[in-house]
Amino acid sequence: MIVSVASGKGGTGKTLVATSLALSLDSAEEVELLDCDVEEPNAHLFLDLKLTKSWNVCVPVPEINELKCTHCGKCADVCAFNALAVLEKKVLVFPELCHGCGACSYLCPEAAIVERDREIGVVEGGASGNMLFFQGKLTIGEMMAPPLIKATKKHIDKDRMVFIDVPPGTSCPVVEAISGSDFCLLVTEPTPFGLNDLALAVGVARELQIPCGVVLNRSGTENSAVEDYCRQEDIPVLLKIPLDMEIARAYSRGIPLVRGIPSWREPFRQLFRDIRQRISDN
Ligand code: SF4
Ligand code: SF4
Repeated sequence: MIVSVASGKGGTGKTLVATSLALSLDSAEEVELLDCDVEEPNAHLFLDLKLTKSWNVCVPVPEINELKCTHCGKCADVCAFNALAVLEKKVLVFPELCHGCGACSYLCPEAAIVERDREIGVVEGGASGNMLFFQGKLTIGEMMAPPLIKATKKHIDKDRMVFIDVPPGTSCPVVEAISGSDFCLLVTEPTPFGLNDLALAVGVARELQIPCGVVLNRSGTENSAVEDYCRQEDIPVLLKIPLDMEIARAYSRGIPLVRGIPSWREPFRQLFRDIRQRISDN
């Protein structure tokens, strides 16, 4: 079973929820946590573990043999990412835009393209108790998050209860991270920005036909717009975490909620039971 933990924007407490959910179960279930927030993976800061393994991740980018190239332009035409530009006497390659799909080399009529590996980041792994942990870490300045997320997800062990910490937002890395999940937990806060970004994230989950539910973080303010929206859209609010100094203090010190305030362990276990029930009812 794979549960992704996402949010339409950063800073909503997504990692707090993902780590607490995984830790609340780790004595009862075989758990795996994947941090796919590859631009800024920070879940490991909340976990008592050492990253003991590392794998370099590369994408194959084209290299042009100008002696064979006739500058026909077919490679640039097929590239959906504008990573190639064919000039009269030269082909320009923009490696940082290349997704390594291989279409250009496949379609080049002169076999003038070879592929060279370009490193985009690393996948690192470790373990803590019953929990396996993997994270993708993008090289600074690198933009190619989706292939690194895909490489991180190759470490999914389907015999375990898997949680994925998804990058914030609603763009390609998010789609790559939540694809294949059985359930998507959307973490938001009761503000107009929270509502706007939640609605966008719900759109992504629905497009991918993944059932979703909401965790309302920093709840307790007068603004009920998020809950009204969830009611209208028939999206369950599965957990509310109040705006609370003790929680904020634990989080700022890198202490997971269920360890800093153990009374939160049971609400997170109940959250997991609710998710599991909804997946089996689906
Ligand atoms: S498709 Fe091949 S021959 Fe045509 S411009 Fe590209 S590299 Fe050159
Ligand atoms: S491998 Fe794919 S993304 Fe990269 S340049 Fe070729 S067509 Fe474009």
